[in-house]
Amino acid sequence: MKDTQLPSAETVREEILHHITFSMGKDPDHASVYDWRMALSLAIRDRVVAPWFAATRRTWEEKRKRVYYLSMEFLIGRMLEDAAINLGLRAICREAIEGLGQDWETVVENEPDAALGNGGLGRLAACYMESMATLGCPGYGYGIRYEHGLFKQRFEGGRQVETPEDWLKQRHPWEFERPEAAYEIGFKGHVETLDGKPHWIPGETVLAEAYDMPIIGWEGKWANTLRLWSAKPTELFDLARFNHGDYAAAAEPEALARTLSRVLYPDDTTYAGKELRLKQEYFLTSAALQDIMRRHLASGYTLEELPDYVAIQMNDTHPAIAGPELIRILVDLHDMEFETALEITMQCLGYTNHTLLPEALERWATYLMGTVLPRHMQIIEKIDSWHRRTYPKRAHFVGIVKHQEVRMGELAFITSHKVNGVSALHTELIKRNLFPELDALHPGRIINQTNGITPRRWLRMANPALSHLIIDTIGEGWEADLDKLRTLEPYADDAGFREAFMGAKRHNKVHLAEWVHESQGITIDPDAIFDIQVKRIHEYKRQLLNILQTIADWHAIRENPQADFQPRVKFFGGKAAPGYHTAKQIIRLINDVARVVNNDPYVDGRLKIVYPPNYNVSMAERLIPAADLSEQISTAGKEASGTGNMKFALNGALTIGTLDGANVEIREQVGAENFFLFGMTADEVMERRRDPEHARNAILESQPLQDVLQMIAEGRFSPEEPERYHDLVHNMWHSDYFLVASDFEAYRTAQKEVDTAFADRAGWAKMAVLNTARMGFFSSDRAIKGYMDEIWTTRSAL
Ligand SMILES: *Cc1c(COP(=O)(O)O)cnc(C)c1O
Repeated sequence: MKDTQLPSAETVREEILHHITFSMGKDPDHASVYDWRMALSLAIRDRVVAPWFAATRRTWEEKRKRVYYLSMEFLIGRMLEDAAINLGLRAICREAIEGLGQDWETVVENEPDAALGNGGLGRLAACYMESMATLGCPGYGYGIRYEHGLFKQRFEGGRQVETPEDWLKQRHPWEFERPEAAYEIGFKGHVETLDGKPHWIPGETVLAEAYDMPIIGWEGKWANTLRLWSAKPTELFDLARFNHGDYAAAAEPEALARTLSRVLYPDDTTYAGKELRLKQEYFLTSAALQDIMRRHLASGYTLEELPDYVAIQMNDTHPAIAGPELIRILVDLHDMEFETALEITMQCLGYTNHTLLPEALERWATYLMGTVLPRHMQIIEKIDSWHRRTYPKRAHFVGIVKHQEVRMGELAFITSHKVNGVSALHTELIKRNLFPELDALHPGRIINQTNGITPRRWLRMANPALSHLIIDTIGEGWEADLDKLRTLEPYADDAGFREAFMGAKRHNKVHLAEWVHESQGITIDPDAIFDIQVKRIHEYKRQLLNILQTIADWHAIRENPQADFQPRVKFFGGKAAPGYHTAKQIIRLINDVARVVNNDPYVDGRLKIVYPPNYNVSMAERLIPAADLSEQISTAGKEASGTGNMKFALNGALTIGTLDGANVEIREQVGAENFFLFGMTADEVMERRRDPEHARNAILESQPLQDVLQMIAEGRFSPEEPERYHDLVHNMWHSDYFLVASDFEAYRTAQKEVDTAFADRAGWAKMAVLNTARMGFFSSDRAIKGYMDEIWTTRSAL
């Protein structure tokens, strides 16, 4: 947006005052931070509406193909500052709000995170929405408007305690309710034959009502819609029962219907198999497809033209019922032949696979599928037998329905024209291990689209210090063309620039240290290495490896308190699924170790452990710009891509990591000499697991690891309950599926290299600069261009 088009701070100030008075109904003298935040949001929102309408209008007028991104999760975070940045209004809004006597940070931080997702998958959907808007790719995101997002995490005695999240308790200024856009969603019932045709008579129905959020792209050139569905009862309440005085029973239908969009399932990379979850998945998918069909037919297009105007992307298999649902609509409601309907469906659908972990692959008992969605179960069987007939070479163990289960991965694969992995390594492993037979039958269907992150939020917004340095050095333009950061490369050899770069980093570290002091009561040294591992807690991500190595460091200090020790602060952040016992034990261990280490006078502040509760997008934005070291230490072959790894490297943190997910490509881009690599490769992991004694042997080969495990087993960190971690230690000796022991020594060695490298300030700075300069590839703009070219066959409207 041209500066000349921007309003003055004075104008924005008037607009805020207008909203304080007429939208919030408050006298400015009595307005609270909440009121100011709402008024500012509404003032910004007013400026989103015009480009939003313009984009929608142009899409209709120019008869453009639309992309529909179906996702059970959108981990958006806060919206105010993001919208302000993309409209070029941040500085102006700041001046305006400060002119009204309000503190900018306080107002911005008053906004609750929209936490409609668990982790990486949901955050990816949010980054992709922002990039689609930036690139002018016409489209919609479809999701669920959960009343309660991801639970809030607290620690009690070091243990994770979950409380419900309540983001909608306050007004949500970024959404527009659309009561006119509502669809009936059916469940259960039975299938009848009418005039020789199958006809589903649902036994239950709910309404899906739309709430729209505008998603504005960089410089406000384009805006798309994120349409979230909320469940409402089709029948408000039972008046007869109410009149009889049976009030609770009268309200039952309403309560039941609303349950559908009540809470986000808190399982990340595990699959719950619950009926309500299946209903949620169908609720989203059916509402989306009805909306898509309405829009398509309202434009006057034929059903055969669907693939020319509609691309539907399934974010994992959660919306994979889209295949059978679209076929049902075409066959049952529009009299199309089954095979024609299947062909059209395949041309419309794309499927993104996010994981190879067996516990994450969705499988629904045929009994449950047949009960909840009886007509879809018939269609699924029909797709499966069509595929078996059409590909007679298909091995007997391949197929959608096996062992009384519907396998959603196979269903999504067979009903899509493209299946993509999310990093080069992951895509290779999909071909090799997950779908080798289907890949052979459908060569070319599996492709790669390495994940990306939006540089607007993850650099420009989250890291003003570094952004301004970059702008002062190479100008603007990199925000929407991240490859431009390459022009920073020569400055890696410029001592003045390196100092400025490290100055920005130190500024962020001081800021974080202040926050840690205020919120956690822990004093940390901004000149220590800020070593950060933030992500969901999962065994494969190996937070355990990190804390065991931390204990080894602590032990080394205790053994030799006079020796030189490079000061470090170990940050952890992340939630465990409420039912994931081992992950919760790891959280408790980290907190127990922190209590001992942080209060140990021998350590004298040289090692600190900080684990702020309730990691979310806003905390990521606070921690990542202050990181020196990014921990990306998953067991090779297990992390599909990772996106946290990209956020850190873009912000000038060096990575200590395994050859897993997108780490492989990050290392290629930034240069092997600017990356601390350690550990087994995916192939070595598989080889190593064949040795039934691998855990025991690895422990016996490492005295430090033996010492660490011994200390934990003896209750050094849990003196009030010495046996607290017996299971964890036992598992290390006898199973260790994620090979923590086998990678322990390599990890320790790499950490020593980090210490040495950090002591060389200029050398470290050079590596950090080169990380930032070479991360252009990981912009979500590049990723979305890949989807547009290779999956959606759609062009930018800009
Ligand atoms: C980026 C992000 C993630 C994903 O992190 P990984 O390290 O890739 O697992 C998870 N949660 C939040 C809040 C994020 O911002």
